[in-house]
Amino acid sequence: MSKILITGGTGLVGSSLEFDNCVKLSSKDCDLRDTQQTYKLFESLKPDKVIHCAAKVGGVLSNMAYKGDYYHDNIMINTNVLEASRRVGVKRVLSFLSTCVFPKDIDYPLTEDKMHDGAPHEAHYPYAYAKRMLDIQSRAYREQYGCDFISVIPVNLYGPNDNFNLENSHVAPALIRKCYEAKINNTPFVVWGTGKPYREFIYIKDIAKLTAWTLENYQDKGPLIFTSSIETSINELVEIIAKCFSFDGKIVFDKSMPDGQYRKPSSNKKLLSHIPDFEFTSLEDGIAETCEWFQKKYETVRK
Ligand code: GDP
Repeated sequence: MSKILITGGTGLVGSSLEFDNCVKLSSKDCDLRDTQQTYKLFESLKPDKVIHCAAKVGGVLSNMAYKGDYYHDNIMINTNVLEASRRVGVKRVLSFLSTCVFPKDIDYPLTEDKMHDGAPHEAHYPYAYAKRMLDIQSRAYREQYGCDFISVIPVNLYGPNDNFNLENSHVAPALIRKCYEAKINNTPFVVWGTGKPYREFIYIKDIAKLTAWTLENYQDKGPLIFTSSIETSINELVEIIAKCFSFDGKIVFDKSMPDGQYRKPSSNKKLLSHIPDFEFTSLEDGIAETCEWFQKKYETVRK
């Protein structure tokens, strides 16, 4: 049975993945920014397959405040993980990118082949370029060394085990926490920006299924976008979350906070050409499950 190594094993994606013979790494096991530590770890574990989820990730404000860290940490982690995988002969690496990699000014919908066709949005360009390089490194290693390194591009993820820190989390977990705390404290529910931008969301349980399928079955070389292609405005997301917590207090839009990119609709044509009958969890169901989980685990969630 293949031995699967999952980097970022305690993060939102990593903790959702289940395989029989698998090792989940956290930053406590190895600092993947450190080249020698990474090589040593891969030499001792000698995995057959790697699912590379580890990254320095965060929401729009954190990306703008810590540009150097986002660039450096991600470039180092990615370079080290792919090179270590090549050195120990890993048979397949599946790396997670993000839709942030796509150009800011580009015809919609986003498709896999448009990744490098223009500069990314300035709010997250260091992270975006570092992630783009995962695609470049995978392609270069495939062409020079014949490495079977692939990548997937999920849209905005959400679900249990997310990071609920208000400074550096993404919109769904941030709003779940803010709404819940507004409800219990009888205070306003504060949303960043105008509420007008659109995003596509994918539930982490769908990601787990799609990742397992892709690792075993995907025979293409290029990246694959994971999305239902359904756009939801931040306003609609706010309403769904408010309904889950039966919140009927005041909702405030803090327009001093950034909106980031207005929309980034992406195509699931390629995904559905591989898995035509995949059934996505609706945003209402996924958010309801996540809110329930959050409420139960409130004292111990990452925040
Ligand atoms: P993005 O998809 O990379 O832009 O990252 P985010 O998930 O951080 O933000 C998506 C959208 O949600 C942006 O338009 C934010 O302004 C908006 N948003 C509204 N409230 C919040 C919040 O409390 N936290 C975050 N991170 N975003 C918020």
